[in-house]
Amino acid sequence: ALVVRHHMRSSGRWAKAMAIVRELDEKCGTPIGKLMQVADAMAVEMHAGLASEGGSKLKMIISYVDNLPTGDEKGWFYALDLGGTNFRVLRVQLGGKDHLVGKQEFEEVSIPPHLMVGTSDALFDFIAEALKKFVDTEGEDFHLSPGRERELGFTFSFPIKQSSIASGTLMKWTKGFSIEDAVGQDVVGELTKALERVGLNMRVTALVNDTIGTLAGGRYYDSNVIAAVILGTGTNAAYVERAHAIPKWHGLLPKSGEMAINMEWGNFRSSHLPLTEYDQAMDAESLNPGEQIFEKIISGMYLGEIVRRVLCRMAEEASFFGDTVPPKLKIPFILRTPDMSAMHHDTSSDLRVVGRKLKDVLEISNTSLRTRKAIVKVCDIVSVRGARLSAAGILGILKKLGRDTLKEGENLKSVIALDGGLFEHYTLFRNSLESTLKELLGEASETIVIQHSNDGSGIGAALLAASHSQYLELEES
Ligand code: BGC
Ligand code: MG
Repeated sequence: ALVVRHHMRSSGRWAKAMAIVRELDEKCGTPIGKLMQVADAMAVEMHAGLASEGGSKLKMIISYVDNLPTGDEKGWFYALDLGGTNFRVLRVQLGGKDHLVGKQEFEEVSIPPHLMVGTSDALFDFIAEALKKFVDTEGEDFHLSPGRERELGFTFSFPIKQSSIASGTLMKWTKGFSIEDAVGQDVVGELTKALERVGLNMRVTALVNDTIGTLAGGRYYDSNVIAAVILGTGTNAAYVERAHAIPKWHGLLPKSGEMAINMEWGNFRSSHLPLTEYDQAMDAESLNPGEQIFEKIISGMYLGEIVRRVLCRMAEEASFFGDTVPPKLKIPFILRTPDMSAMHHDTSSDLRVVGRKLKDVLEISNTSLRTRKAIVKVCDIVSVRGARLSAAGILGILKKLGRDTLKEGENLKSVIALDGGLFEHYTLFRNSLESTLKELLGEASETIVIQHSNDGSGIGAALLAASHSQYLELEES
Protein backbone atom coordinates (compact mmCIF):
# COMPACT_ATOMS: atom_id res chain seq x y z
CA ALA A 1 0.00 0.00 0.00
CA LEU A 2 2.87 2.33 0.86
CA VAL A 3 4.43 1.79 -2.51
CA VAL A 4 1.17 2.49 -4.26
CA ARG A 5 0.59 5.70 -2.30
CA HIS A 6 4.07 6.87 -3.07
CA HIS A 7 3.50 6.21 -6.72
CA MET A 8 0.28 8.17 -6.70
CA ARG A 9 1.91 11.05 -4.97
CA SER A 10 4.66 11.21 -7.53
CA SER A 11 2.26 10.99 -10.44
CA GLY A 12 0.28 13.81 -8.88
CA ARG A 13 3.46 15.86 -8.75
CA TRP A 14 4.25 15.05 -12.32
CA ALA A 15 0.78 16.10 -13.43
CA LYS A 16 1.18 19.36 -11.56
CA ALA A 17 4.56 19.99 -13.16
CA MET A 18 3.18 19.27 -16.61
CA ALA A 19 0.29 21.63 -15.95
CA ILE A 20 2.83 24.38 -15.27
CA VAL A 21 4.60 23.63 -18.57
CA ARG A 22 1.30 23.56 -20.44
CA GLU A 23 0.26 26.88 -18.96
CA LEU A 24 3.62 28.39 -19.94
CA ASP A 25 3.15 27.09 -23.47
CA GLU A 26 -0.27 28.71 -23.72
CA LYS A 27 0.82 32.04 -22.26
CA CYS A 28 3.86 32.22 -24.55
CA GLY A 29 1.87 31.40 -27.65
CA THR A 30 2.72 33.41 -30.76
CA PRO A 31 0.28 32.43 -33.50
CA ILE A 32 0.71 34.30 -36.78
CA GLY A 33 -2.24 36.58 -36.07
CA LYS A 34 -0.63 37.77 -32.86
CA LEU A 35 2.73 38.33 -34.56
CA MET A 36 0.98 40.43 -37.21
CA GLN A 37 -0.53 42.55 -34.45
CA VAL A 38 2.91 42.96 -32.88
CA ALA A 39 4.40 43.98 -36.24
CA ASP A 40 1.60 46.49 -36.82
CA ALA A 41 2.04 47.90 -33.33
CA MET A 42 5.77 48.22 -33.97
CA ALA A 43 5.17 50.16 -37.19
CA VAL A 44 2.65 52.44 -35.42
CA GLU A 45 5.12 53.16 -32.62
CA MET A 46 7.85 53.88 -35.16
CA HIS A 47 5.65 56.58 -36.68
CA ALA A 48 4.88 58.01 -33.25
CA GLY A 49 8.51 58.04 -32.17
CA LEU A 50 9.54 59.84 -35.38
CA ALA A 51 6.73 62.38 -35.04
CA SER A 52 7.85 63.95 -31.80
CA GLU A 53 10.45 63.62 -29.05
CA GLY A 54 8.93 61.36 -26.38
CA GLY A 55 6.05 60.48 -28.70
CA SER A 56 6.50 56.77 -28.13
CA LYS A 57 8.17 54.14 -26.01
CA LEU A 58 10.33 53.72 -29.11
CA LYS A 59 12.84 56.53 -28.92
CA MET A 60 13.64 56.44 -32.64
CA ILE A 61 16.94 58.22 -32.03
CA ILE A 62 18.38 60.35 -34.81
CA SER A 63 21.93 59.06 -35.26
CA TYR A 64 23.31 61.99 -37.28
CA VAL A 65 24.57 59.36 -39.68
CA ASP A 66 23.15 60.61 -42.98
CA ASN A 67 25.78 59.01 -45.16
CA LEU A 68 26.62 55.38 -44.89
CA PRO A 69 30.08 54.14 -45.90
CA THR A 70 30.81 54.02 -49.60
CA GLY A 71 34.10 52.18 -49.74
CA ASP A 72 36.14 55.31 -50.34
CA GLU A 73 37.21 55.53 -46.70
CA LYS A 74 40.98 55.48 -46.32
CA GLY A 75 43.58 55.40 -43.61
CA TRP A 76 44.16 53.95 -40.15
CA PHE A 77 41.36 54.26 -37.62
CA TYR A 78 40.51 53.03 -34.17
CA ALA A 79 37.22 51.78 -32.80
CA LEU A 80 36.00 50.97 -29.35
CA ASP A 81 32.99 48.74 -28.88
CA LEU A 82 31.33 48.86 -25.48
CA GLY A 83 27.97 47.40 -24.70
CA GLY A 84 27.90 43.98 -23.12
CA THR A 85 30.06 42.01 -20.82
CA ASN A 86 33.12 42.58 -23.00
CA PHE A 87 34.48 45.52 -24.80
CA ARG A 88 36.67 45.44 -27.85
CA VAL A 89 39.31 47.75 -29.19
CA LEU A 90 40.08 47.70 -32.89
CA ARG A 91 42.60 49.15 -35.26
CA VAL A 92 41.80 48.95 -38.94
CA GLN A 93 43.42 50.07 -42.10
CA LEU A 94 40.88 51.20 -44.64
CA GLY A 95 42.15 50.90 -48.16
CA GLY A 96 39.63 52.73 -50.34
CA LYS A 97 37.52 51.23 -53.14
CA ASP A 98 39.78 48.53 -54.44
CA HIS A 99 41.09 47.28 -51.16
CA LEU A 100 38.37 47.86 -48.57
CA VAL A 101 39.47 46.72 -45.15
CA GLY A 102 43.16 45.97 -45.14
CA LYS A 103 44.77 45.16 -41.87
CA GLN A 104 42.52 44.58 -38.91
CA GLU A 105 43.67 44.06 -35.35
CA PHE A 106 41.60 43.80 -32.24
CA GLU A 107 41.61 42.87 -28.62
CA GLU A 108 38.76 41.87 -26.38
CA VAL A 109 38.68 42.74 -22.70
CA SER A 110 36.06 41.57 -20.24
CA ILE A 111 34.64 44.21 -17.94
CA PRO A 112 35.00 43.42 -14.24
CA PRO A 113 31.41 43.21 -12.91
CA HIS A 114 31.99 45.81 -10.19
CA LEU A 115 32.77 48.40 -12.87
CA MET A 116 29.32 47.86 -14.40
CA VAL A 117 27.70 49.25 -11.27
CA GLY A 118 30.40 51.64 -10.04
CA THR A 119 31.27 55.17 -11.12
CA SER A 120 31.64 56.75 -14.52
CA ASP A 121 35.31 57.64 -13.91
CA ALA A 122 36.18 54.10 -12.85
CA LEU A 123 34.59 52.59 -15.97
CA PHE A 124 36.11 55.07 -18.41
CA ASP A 125 39.54 54.94 -16.77
CA PHE A 126 39.54 51.19 -17.21
CA ILE A 127 38.60 51.54 -20.86
CA ALA A 128 41.15 54.28 -21.51
CA GLU A 129 43.90 52.17 -19.94
CA ALA A 130 43.04 49.22 -22.14
CA LEU A 131 42.98 51.44 -25.20
CA LYS A 132 46.34 52.90 -24.29
CA LYS A 133 47.89 49.44 -23.98
CA PHE A 134 46.44 48.55 -27.35
CA VAL A 135 47.83 51.70 -28.97
CA ASP A 136 51.25 50.66 -27.68
CA THR A 137 51.09 47.61 -29.95
CA GLU A 138 50.94 49.65 -33.17
CA GLY A 139 53.09 47.96 -35.79
CA GLU A 140 55.54 49.47 -38.23
CA ASP A 141 52.96 49.70 -40.96
CA PHE A 142 50.75 51.95 -38.84
CA HIS A 143 50.77 55.37 -40.35
CA LEU A 144 49.18 58.79 -39.88
CA SER A 145 49.82 61.74 -42.15
CA PRO A 146 51.92 64.42 -40.42
CA GLY A 147 49.93 66.59 -38.04
CA ARG A 148 47.11 64.09 -37.76
CA GLU A 149 45.79 62.81 -34.50
CA ARG A 150 44.53 59.25 -34.01
CA GLU A 151 40.78 59.09 -34.55
CA LEU A 152 38.30 56.77 -32.92
CA GLY A 153 34.80 55.54 -33.63
CA PHE A 154 33.07 54.84 -30.35
CA THR A 155 30.35 52.20 -30.36
CA PHE A 156 28.38 52.68 -27.19
CA SER A 157 25.44 50.30 -27.05
CA PHE A 158 23.02 52.02 -24.76
CA PRO A 159 20.33 54.63 -25.42
CA ILE A 160 22.08 57.91 -26.18
CA LYS A 161 20.41 61.17 -27.03
CA GLN A 162 22.73 62.27 -29.81
CA SER A 163 23.40 65.96 -30.29
CA SER A 164 25.81 65.47 -33.18
CA ILE A 165 27.70 62.63 -34.80
CA ALA A 166 30.33 62.83 -32.06
CA SER A 167 28.39 63.72 -28.92
CA GLY A 168 25.41 62.52 -26.96
CA THR A 169 24.12 62.07 -23.45
CA LEU A 170 23.29 58.78 -21.82
CA MET A 171 19.53 58.46 -21.33
CA LYS A 172 19.60 55.33 -19.20
CA TRP A 173 21.53 52.12 -18.72
CA THR A 174 20.31 48.68 -19.79
CA LYS A 175 21.65 45.09 -19.71
CA GLY A 176 22.89 44.98 -16.13
CA PHE A 177 24.81 48.24 -16.20
CA SER A 178 23.87 50.80 -13.60
CA ILE A 179 26.27 53.69 -13.09
CA GLU A 180 24.18 56.51 -11.74
CA ASP A 181 26.60 59.39 -12.19
CA ALA A 182 26.98 58.70 -15.90
CA VAL A 183 23.28 59.15 -16.70
CA GLY A 184 22.75 62.52 -18.38
CA GLN A 185 26.47 62.89 -19.14
CA ASP A 186 28.03 63.22 -22.58
CA VAL A 187 29.77 59.88 -22.93
CA VAL A 188 32.26 61.25 -25.46
CA GLY A 189 33.21 63.90 -22.89
CA GLU A 190 33.59 61.19 -20.25
CA LEU A 191 35.79 59.09 -22.52
CA THR A 192 37.84 62.08 -23.68
CA LYS A 193 38.56 63.11 -20.09
CA ALA A 194 39.68 59.57 -19.27
CA LEU A 195 41.92 59.51 -22.36
CA GLU A 196 43.52 62.73 -21.11
CA ARG A 197 43.96 61.26 -17.63
CA VAL A 198 45.92 58.31 -19.03
CA GLY A 199 47.81 60.56 -21.43
CA LEU A 200 46.48 59.15 -24.68
CA ASN A 201 46.18 61.48 -27.60
CA MET A 202 43.11 60.45 -29.56
CA ARG A 203 39.98 62.13 -30.83
CA VAL A 204 36.49 60.63 -30.91
CA THR A 205 35.02 61.49 -34.31
CA ALA A 206 31.95 59.28 -34.23
CA LEU A 207 29.69 58.06 -31.46
CA VAL A 208 27.39 55.27 -32.60
CA ASN A 209 25.06 52.63 -31.28
CA ASP A 210 26.01 49.02 -32.14
CA THR A 211 23.00 48.78 -34.45
CA ILE A 212 24.17 51.87 -36.34
CA GLY A 213 27.70 50.45 -36.52
CA THR A 214 26.33 47.16 -37.84
CA LEU A 215 24.21 49.02 -40.38
CA ALA A 216 27.27 50.97 -41.55
CA GLY A 217 29.47 47.86 -41.59
CA GLY A 218 26.80 45.96 -43.52
CA ARG A 219 26.26 48.73 -46.07
CA TYR A 220 29.99 48.93 -46.71
CA TYR A 221 29.91 45.49 -48.28
CA ASP A 222 26.37 45.43 -49.63
CA SER A 223 24.40 48.47 -50.77
CA ASN A 224 21.11 46.59 -50.27
CA VAL A 225 21.48 46.64 -46.49
CA ILE A 226 18.60 48.72 -45.14
CA ALA A 227 18.45 47.70 -41.49
CA ALA A 228 20.48 46.09 -38.74
CA VAL A 229 19.31 44.05 -35.78
CA ILE A 230 21.29 43.04 -32.72
CA LEU A 231 20.29 39.90 -30.84
CA GLY A 232 22.82 39.51 -28.09
CA THR A 233 22.91 40.35 -24.41
CA GLY A 234 20.37 43.03 -25.32
CA THR A 235 18.37 43.62 -28.47
CA ASN A 236 17.80 46.58 -30.76
CA ALA A 237 17.37 47.62 -34.40
CA ALA A 238 18.37 50.47 -36.66
CA TYR A 239 17.35 51.29 -40.21
CA VAL A 240 17.65 53.89 -42.92
CA GLU A 241 14.74 56.33 -42.98
CA ARG A 242 13.83 59.03 -45.47
CA ALA A 243 14.61 62.36 -43.85
CA HIS A 244 11.19 63.62 -45.01
CA ALA A 245 9.53 60.98 -42.89
CA ILE A 246 11.08 62.31 -39.65
CA PRO A 247 8.82 65.18 -38.53
CA LYS A 248 10.82 65.68 -35.32
CA TRP A 249 14.00 66.44 -37.29
CA HIS A 250 14.32 70.20 -37.62
CA GLY A 251 17.85 70.31 -38.95
CA LEU A 252 18.94 70.78 -42.53
CA LEU A 253 17.79 68.16 -44.94
CA PRO A 254 20.79 65.90 -45.52
CA LYS A 255 22.07 65.74 -49.09
CA SER A 256 21.45 62.02 -49.19
CA GLY A 257 17.86 62.59 -48.13
CA GLU A 258 18.32 59.83 -45.61
CA MET A 259 19.03 59.37 -41.93
CA ALA A 260 19.90 56.26 -39.94
CA ILE A 261 17.57 55.81 -36.99
CA ASN A 262 18.41 53.90 -33.84
CA MET A 263 15.02 52.55 -32.81
CA GLU A 264 15.90 51.29 -29.31
CA TRP A 265 13.30 48.61 -29.91
CA GLY A 266 14.24 46.86 -26.69
CA ASN A 267 11.94 49.32 -24.97
CA PHE A 268 8.98 48.42 -27.19
CA ARG A 269 5.91 47.25 -25.36
CA SER A 270 2.40 46.44 -26.46
CA SER A 271 -0.69 44.77 -25.07
CA HIS A 272 -0.19 42.20 -27.83
CA LEU A 273 3.04 40.90 -26.30
CA PRO A 274 2.57 37.50 -24.69
CA LEU A 275 3.79 38.17 -21.14
CA THR A 276 3.77 35.67 -18.29
CA GLU A 277 3.96 35.86 -14.52
CA TYR A 278 7.65 34.95 -14.83
CA ASP A 279 8.33 37.94 -17.04
CA GLN A 280 6.45 40.21 -14.68
CA ALA A 281 8.35 39.01 -11.62
CA MET A 282 11.71 39.20 -13.40
CA ASP A 283 10.95 42.73 -14.55
CA ALA A 284 9.85 43.85 -11.10
CA GLU A 285 13.09 42.58 -9.56
CA SER A 286 15.33 43.95 -12.32
CA LEU A 287 17.66 46.96 -12.28
CA ASN A 288 15.23 48.74 -14.62
CA PRO A 289 11.64 47.77 -13.75
CA GLY A 290 9.05 48.72 -16.36
CA GLU A 291 11.73 49.34 -18.99
CA GLN A 292 13.04 47.27 -21.91
CA ILE A 293 10.08 44.88 -21.88
CA PHE A 294 10.62 43.62 -25.46
CA GLU A 295 14.30 43.09 -24.65
CA LYS A 296 13.42 41.17 -21.50
CA ILE A 297 11.45 38.52 -23.40
CA ILE A 298 13.85 38.24 -26.33
CA SER A 299 17.47 38.81 -25.50
CA GLY A 300 20.34 36.72 -24.22
CA MET A 301 20.62 38.36 -20.85
CA TYR A 302 17.14 37.17 -19.91
CA LEU A 303 16.13 33.91 -21.65
CA GLY A 304 18.05 31.63 -19.29
CA GLU A 305 16.71 33.55 -16.32
CA ILE A 306 13.12 33.05 -17.47
CA VAL A 307 13.75 29.31 -17.76
CA ARG A 308 15.23 29.30 -14.27
CA ARG A 309 12.12 30.98 -12.90
CA VAL A 310 9.85 28.40 -14.51
CA LEU A 311 11.94 25.50 -13.20
CA CYS A 312 11.97 27.11 -9.78
CA ARG A 313 8.18 27.25 -9.68
CA MET A 314 8.03 23.61 -10.84
CA ALA A 315 10.38 22.70 -8.00
CA GLU A 316 8.44 24.67 -5.41
CA GLU A 317 4.91 23.75 -6.38
CA ALA A 318 5.31 20.33 -7.94
CA SER A 319 8.46 19.02 -6.25
CA PHE A 320 9.88 18.65 -9.74
CA PHE A 321 13.38 17.90 -8.46
CA GLY A 322 12.33 15.94 -5.40
CA ASP A 323 11.23 16.91 -1.92
CA THR A 324 13.43 19.98 -1.63
CA VAL A 325 14.03 22.88 -3.95
CA PRO A 326 17.64 22.74 -5.16
CA PRO A 327 19.27 25.77 -3.47
CA LYS A 328 21.21 26.88 -6.58
CA LEU A 329 17.98 27.09 -8.54
CA LYS A 330 16.97 30.02 -6.38
CA ILE A 331 19.88 32.20 -7.46
CA PRO A 332 18.86 34.80 -10.05
CA PHE A 333 20.72 34.67 -13.38
CA ILE A 334 22.63 31.52 -12.44
CA LEU A 335 21.28 29.75 -15.53
CA ARG A 336 22.79 31.64 -18.43
CA THR A 337 21.38 31.58 -21.94
CA PRO A 338 24.40 29.67 -23.33
CA ASP A 339 23.63 26.89 -20.80
CA MET A 340 19.98 26.95 -21.82
CA SER A 341 21.04 26.79 -25.46
CA ALA A 342 23.30 23.80 -24.79
CA MET A 343 20.41 21.95 -23.14
CA HIS A 344 18.02 22.91 -25.92
CA HIS A 345 20.39 21.59 -28.58
CA ASP A 346 21.04 18.28 -26.84
CA THR A 347 20.41 15.56 -29.42
CA SER A 348 21.69 12.60 -27.41
CA SER A 349 19.10 9.90 -26.74
CA ASP A 350 19.54 10.13 -22.97
CA LEU A 351 19.83 13.93 -22.96
CA ARG A 352 23.17 13.76 -21.28
CA VAL A 353 24.07 17.38 -21.98
CA VAL A 354 20.96 18.40 -20.08
CA GLY A 355 22.04 16.10 -17.27
CA ARG A 356 25.51 17.59 -17.21
CA LYS A 357 24.29 21.19 -17.23
CA LEU A 358 21.85 20.48 -14.40
CA LYS A 359 24.70 19.04 -12.41
CA ASP A 360 27.37 21.61 -13.23
CA VAL A 361 25.25 24.73 -13.09
CA LEU A 362 22.48 23.89 -10.63
CA GLU A 363 23.96 20.97 -8.66
CA ILE A 364 20.98 18.81 -9.49
CA SER A 365 21.76 15.15 -10.14
CA ASN A 366 19.92 11.92 -10.89
CA THR A 367 17.19 13.35 -13.05
CA SER A 368 15.00 11.01 -15.03
CA LEU A 369 14.80 11.16 -18.80
CA ARG A 370 11.25 12.51 -18.73
CA THR A 371 12.35 15.27 -16.35
CA ARG A 372 15.10 16.25 -18.79
CA LYS A 373 12.66 16.17 -21.67
CA ALA A 374 10.36 18.53 -19.81
CA ILE A 375 13.26 20.91 -19.24
CA VAL A 376 14.09 20.92 -22.95
CA LYS A 377 10.45 21.71 -23.61
CA VAL A 378 10.62 24.74 -21.30
CA CYS A 379 13.77 25.97 -23.12
CA ASP A 380 11.97 25.52 -26.41
CA ILE A 381 8.89 27.48 -25.36
CA VAL A 382 10.92 30.41 -24.06
CA SER A 383 13.33 30.60 -26.99
CA VAL A 384 10.67 30.17 -29.70
CA ARG A 385 8.64 33.01 -28.22
CA GLY A 386 11.70 35.29 -28.34
CA ALA A 387 12.65 34.27 -31.86
CA ARG A 388 9.15 34.70 -33.27
CA LEU A 389 8.74 38.10 -31.63
CA SER A 390 12.08 39.19 -33.11
CA ALA A 391 10.75 38.19 -36.54
CA ALA A 392 7.60 40.23 -35.88
CA GLY A 393 9.78 43.23 -34.99
CA ILE A 394 11.66 42.90 -38.28
CA LEU A 395 8.35 42.67 -40.13
CA GLY A 396 7.32 45.90 -38.39
CA ILE A 397 10.34 47.69 -39.91
CA LEU A 398 9.63 46.27 -43.36
CA LYS A 399 6.02 47.40 -43.07
CA LYS A 400 7.12 50.89 -42.10
CA LEU A 401 9.30 50.99 -45.20
CA GLY A 402 6.66 49.45 -47.45
CA ARG A 403 8.94 46.53 -48.21
CA ASP A 404 6.78 43.77 -46.74
CA THR A 405 4.85 43.03 -49.93
CA LEU A 406 5.70 42.42 -53.55
CA LYS A 407 5.06 45.33 -55.87
CA GLU A 408 4.29 45.49 -59.57
CA GLY A 409 7.48 46.04 -61.51
CA GLU A 410 10.65 46.55 -59.51
CA ASN A 411 11.07 44.59 -56.36
CA LEU A 412 13.84 45.94 -54.25
CA LYS A 413 16.01 43.49 -52.47
CA SER A 414 16.21 44.27 -48.76
CA VAL A 415 19.10 42.97 -46.73
CA ILE A 416 18.96 43.02 -42.95
CA ALA A 417 22.29 42.74 -41.17
CA LEU A 418 22.08 40.69 -37.99
CA ASP A 419 24.62 40.27 -35.26
CA GLY A 420 24.92 39.33 -31.60
CA GLY A 421 25.73 36.17 -29.69
CA LEU A 422 22.14 34.99 -29.44
CA PHE A 423 21.71 35.07 -33.21
CA GLU A 424 25.17 33.74 -33.86
CA HIS A 425 25.35 30.86 -31.40
CA TYR A 426 21.79 29.82 -30.56
CA THR A 427 21.01 27.90 -33.74
CA LEU A 428 17.46 26.89 -32.86
CA PHE A 429 16.64 30.49 -32.01
CA ARG A 430 18.06 31.66 -35.30
CA ASN A 431 16.26 28.95 -37.30
CA SER A 432 12.98 29.81 -35.67
CA LEU A 433 13.48 33.52 -36.38
CA GLU A 434 14.26 32.87 -40.03
CA SER A 435 11.41 30.45 -40.66
CA THR A 436 8.94 32.72 -38.85
CA LEU A 437 9.96 35.68 -40.97
CA LYS A 438 9.41 33.60 -44.11
CA GLU A 439 6.04 32.53 -42.84
CA LEU A 440 5.06 36.12 -42.07
CA LEU A 441 6.23 37.49 -45.41
CA GLY A 442 4.83 34.82 -47.67
CA GLU A 443 5.89 35.35 -51.28
CA ALA A 444 7.55 38.66 -50.41
CA SER A 445 10.17 36.69 -48.49
CA GLU A 446 12.02 36.18 -51.80
CA THR A 447 13.15 39.80 -51.66
CA ILE A 448 14.26 39.82 -48.01
CA VAL A 449 17.66 38.52 -46.95
CA ILE A 450 18.91 38.02 -43.43
CA GLN A 451 22.66 38.44 -43.43
CA HIS A 452 24.93 37.61 -40.51
CA SER A 453 27.23 40.59 -40.17
CA ASN A 454 29.93 39.24 -37.94
CA ASP A 455 31.32 41.98 -35.70
CA GLY A 456 30.15 44.59 -38.16
CA SER A 457 29.63 47.14 -35.42
CA GLY A 458 33.33 47.64 -34.67
CA ILE A 459 34.32 48.01 -38.32
CA GLY A 460 31.25 50.15 -38.85
CA ALA A 461 32.36 52.54 -36.12
CA ALA A 462 35.85 52.77 -37.65
CA LEU A 463 34.26 53.51 -41.04
CA LEU A 464 32.10 56.24 -39.56
CA ALA A 465 35.12 57.66 -37.74
CA ALA A 466 36.81 57.81 -41.13
CA SER A 467 33.92 59.41 -42.97
CA HIS A 468 33.59 61.99 -40.19
CA SER A 469 37.32 62.57 -39.85
CA GLN A 470 38.44 66.04 -38.79
CA TYR A 471 40.97 65.97 -41.56
CA LEU A 472 38.76 65.29 -44.56
CA GLU A 473 38.72 68.91 -45.73
CA LEU A 474 42.46 69.11 -45.34
CA GLU A 475 42.94 66.09 -47.57
CA GLU A 476 40.47 67.26 -50.15
CA SER A 477 41.87 70.78 -50.51
C1 BGC B 1 20.53 48.92 -25.72
C2 BGC B 1 20.75 49.26 -27.18
C3 BGC B 1 21.66 48.24 -27.83
C4 BGC B 1 21.15 46.84 -27.59
C5 BGC B 1 22.04 45.77 -28.20
C6 BGC B 1 20.09 47.47 -25.58
O1 BGC B 1 20.01 47.13 -24.24
O2 BGC B 1 19.56 49.76 -25.15
O3 BGC B 1 21.30 50.57 -27.30
O4 BGC B 1 21.75 48.52 -29.19
O5 BGC B 1 21.03 46.60 -26.21
O6 BGC B 1 23.34 45.85 -27.74
MG1 MG C 1 30.56 38.04 -33.60
